[in-house]
Amino acid sequence: MPYSVPPLPYAYDALEPHIDKQTMEIHHDKHHQAYVDKVNAALAGTPLENAAIEDVLKDLSQVPEDKRGAVRNNGGGHYNHSLFWESMAANAGGSPDGALAQAIDSAFGSFSDFQAKLKEAGVNQFGSGWSWLVKDGSGLAVVGTPNQDNPISDGKTPLLGVDVWEHAYYLKYQNRRPDYLDAWWNTVNWAKVAERFSA
Ligand code: MN
Repeated sequence: MPYSVPPLPYAYDALEPHIDKQTMEIHHDKHHQAYVDKVNAALAGTPLENAAIEDVLKDLSQVPEDKRGAVRNNGGGHYNHSLFWESMAANAGGSPDGALAQAIDSAFGSFSDFQAKLKEAGVNQFGSGWSWLVKDGSGLAVVGTPNQDNPISDGKTPLLGVDVWEHAYYLKYQNRRPDYLDAWWNTVNWAKVAERFSA
């Protein structure tokens, strides 16, 4: 089965004023669709054409060499954006509770220390990429990845990721990536992140 873009789980304007409607329309309908079309084209006719995208990204060496770059970039783009849409919600934000909150405190000192670290990884990502909260062995860590790379390919489990490609924020924030990252916290769906953490 070829991959498809999952429907956005809320309205395009649901994340206003933090992320504007036009950005969401272009990002979800055009950018994500392009990643899906390109990874489908790359995997068509290969033994991986019916594989779950997570399984493909976990071990890119299984992808035929002449398709590997396209699958890394576009398969990563499909996986990353699918996770990203679900990590946000209308009237969201705040902070996590329960076991996830404890794990964040134990890894980073406090929730605000964690926020500073995730922002720093996003601001310092040169060019395009992502900043992630990951499960790394028994604990949590923050990592940055360039382009559409995903922590899955490094054996880590992504719990939350924020897209720092310019297409994610340029219409509203232009060059002000730090302002976008500050506003983005108001969209985080902690219930979904907690679900991934306990899985
Ligand atoms: Mn994007």
